[in-house]
Amino acid sequence: MKVDYDVIVVGAGPAGSTAARYAAERGASVLMIEKRQEIGTPVRCGEGIAKRWLDKIGMEPSGRWIANEVDGARVISPGGYMLEVDERHAGNEAGYVVHRDVFDQELAIMAARRGVHVMVKTSATGLVREGGKVCGVVANNMGRVHTFRSHVVIGADGYESQVGRWADIPVELAEADVDTCFQRTLVGIDIDPKFTCFYVGSFAPGGYIWIFPKGKDVANVGIGFQLSKVKEPGDPMRYTDAFIARNPGLAKGQSVRDIAGAVSICAPIERTVADGVMLAGDAARVIDPITGGGVINGCITGKYAGMVAAEGVRKSDVSAAFFKKYEAMWRAEIEEKLFRNWMAKEKLATLTDDMFDRAVKALSEANLTKVGTLELLAALRERDPELVKEFEDLI
Ligand SMILES: Cc1cc2nc3c(=O)[nH]c(=O)nc-3n(C[C@H](O)[C@H](O)[C@H](O)COP(=O)(O)OP(=O)(O)OC[C@H]3O[C@@H](n4cnc5c(N)ncnc54)[C@H](O)[C@@H]3O)c2cc1C
Repeated sequence: MKVDYDVIVVGAGPAGSTAARYAAERGASVLMIEKRQEIGTPVRCGEGIAKRWLDKIGMEPSGRWIANEVDGARVISPGGYMLEVDERHAGNEAGYVVHRDVFDQELAIMAARRGVHVMVKTSATGLVREGGKVCGVVANNMGRVHTFRSHVVIGADGYESQVGRWADIPVELAEADVDTCFQRTLVGIDIDPKFTCFYVGSFAPGGYIWIFPKGKDVANVGIGFQLSKVKEPGDPMRYTDAFIARNPGLAKGQSVRDIAGAVSICAPIERTVADGVMLAGDAARVIDPITGGGVINGCITGKYAGMVAAEGVRKSDVSAAFFKKYEAMWRAEIEEKLFRNWMAKEKLATLTDDMFDRAVKALSEANLTKVGTLELLAALRERDPELVKEFEDLI
């Protein structure tokens, strides 16, 4: 087949730019299209990421996109009990608070420097098929319709992914597997800039409220609210504002940015590939179901998708069967944790405030050196065996 590019990546978020770069580094000609006019904006993110993983995607920490470095995370229960965890053990969202727009642009710049052709203001509107086989993308660039042909299409088009649906990959989500989010960036507030904070329980039904400090008096204050628990439209904003109003140190601030969005909090989906197509990042539903963090898993899946796409092109095999290699790579690294955290999320969504208080109190008294789901459960079992019965199947 005559092609314009070996690989087309739809979406220039963290997953797309990483996929495009790794495919190009391995010799593929790559087009990355992005529907927005500027990569990374508008930001829809709490902007928290862990520190110790950037080497996995060949990226150096940089003051250009790091707004603040934190020492750890605090989990606070409705009754005010607090569990403090150092940054190394606090999961995928504690370490750096970043400027997501600049971070995303940096990843796209790295891809472009590897020879990826980047087109912004270019929206994929469908897949090109020949004899039932996917062989490119139809895209609209400022009113002009283009048909780009390729051997492989990588769908890195985020939570609202269309590529998955077009390729008949089941990516639908149940209401209980979606967190609807709202966030204000507050300035002129009193916070501890060295800790990200997570408020659990009835602060945020089925989710949590976060405070991610971007500087000494600036923080993203937001909520992840399980969609199935929303009673009225606007609940996420109302709960955020009620929380801010109850905290005088926050209430005195001004919001300079308000955002709304959604994240998937589902179990790993069964399939992320089809003939000629791979999904990466939010499109592949790899967000952590407990924290709602997806930047790191987006980059990891993007990396593997790019590598396997280039290899498939080289070996003239872009079948779903060959792309199982991609599935195996990302699943080996993150699937078990995603599944365990999804199960834990299901349980957490049923806990009362009193149970959250007991759990956070018990854990804060245990001298934890590691804080994975298993370690937390083991510590809880020792201190509050009755409560931990709720989680027995996870152990
Ligand atoms: C309120 C909120 C707070 C969050 N906070 C955090 C956090 O603190 N830490 C964390 O790790 N994660 C967080 N997340 C999740 C995180 O933002 C995502 O997991 C991450 O952006 C996933 O990267 P991605 O590349 O898969 O998708 P995206 O970043 O969504 O990128 C997809 C790109 O595809 C483009 N696109 C979509 N459709 C098309 C099309 N048809 N044609 C061309 N381009 C298209 C989009 O414009 C977008 O640029 C948060 C999410 C929300 C909503």
